[in-house]
Amino acid sequence: MAVVTQSRLWRGVIEEYRDRLPVTAATPVVTLREGGTPLVPAPWLSEQTSCEVYLKVEGVNPTGSFKDRGMTVAISKAAEEGAEAVVCASTGNTSASAAAYAVRAGMRPVVLLPDGKISGPKLAQAVVHGGVIASVQGNFDDCLRLARELAETYPVALVNSVNPYRLAGQKTAAFEVVDDLGDAPDLHVLPVGNAGNISAYWLGYSEYTAYAADNPGPAKRRPRMWGFQAAGAAPFVHGGPVSAPETVASAIRIGNPASWDLAIAARDDSGGLIDAVTDEQILAAQQELSGREGLFVEPASAAGVAGLLHYSRTGRLDAGQRIVVTVTGHGLKDVDTASAYYGEIRPYVVPAQADAAAKALGLA
Ligand SMILES: *Cc1c(COP(=O)(O)O)cnc(C)c1O
Repeated sequence: MAVVTQSRLWRGVIEEYRDRLPVTAATPVVTLREGGTPLVPAPWLSEQTSCEVYLKVEGVNPTGSFKDRGMTVAISKAAEEGAEAVVCASTGNTSASAAAYAVRAGMRPVVLLPDGKISGPKLAQAVVHGGVIASVQGNFDDCLRLARELAETYPVALVNSVNPYRLAGQKTAAFEVVDDLGDAPDLHVLPVGNAGNISAYWLGYSEYTAYAADNPGPAKRRPRMWGFQAAGAAPFVHGGPVSAPETVASAIRIGNPASWDLAIAARDDSGGLIDAVTDEQILAAQQELSGREGLFVEPASAAGVAGLLHYSRTGRLDAGQRIVVTVTGHGLKDVDTASAYYGEIRPYVVPAQADAAAKALGLA
């Protein structure tokens, strides 16, 4: 299909950053116009931390998480190579994204999900996009091993973040941050699960930085990278794989991260850290984001904010820094966890009559 639009709206990460991505004129671009996400100032977090804090809101991507940035590149390359089916292991968001992009490219999406561990909305996404769904008797790490084995032996392309095209697409988020701010921030904070995203941001910041005098990049410097895991699924903090990862933040419930070496390099080369926050801190941060900043994110997405607040409150965050925190996925991805945290919802029951309603609601 010929692309006829003259729209000046955001064209998706491949067209916006084509010269920095592994695509050619022969690559069929499979896009839902992902990326171009808002960098939203966070006044409450800025006040709490005495810093200038921005949130990179990835929940506004087409399937509700940052996974779409990598999927547009991975599926476009799979299409170029003639793939007819793709496979991924997922805690929910990768499968939602893979299914959407695969059907758009006319491919069969095969998704491997840990038995009973996927939120209803994420499962629904895989279903409505026509995913071939396997409920695997095991955890995410088992699913990923199985996905790799299937892709090795059978005619199906692997689109997990071990596929380098995924990270190539995801690095565009760092480009966007620099394009918005005019330079890299002092500090970039984000959740860490399979560790693809922290690796991709570091790749993006590095590529966008002027190393060669004759080829100056848009950024003059790179940020320190701070990653936060859930305490029950924190292999980087323990220094090795965790066999039975457990956390309410299902998108980072991963015990054996695929991008181990890249994430360690991002941490160390940037002078950063990877630490853990408790589920309680994650849920409290999720609530603060909703109640103070007006942004509803899924639990895993709040891990970076939880970590930033924790470091600030324990006196380990220098004031005056410019900070970007990635909030990775939309709150509507997991409404059950959020609702449970708030407890029973007790609305004011009012008559359909203004005076009485105003009285009951404290307006009169
Ligand atoms: C995938 C995902 C993460 C974790 O990203 P990794 O690249 O696996 O470290 C965090 N939050 C959300 C919402 C995700 O979908």
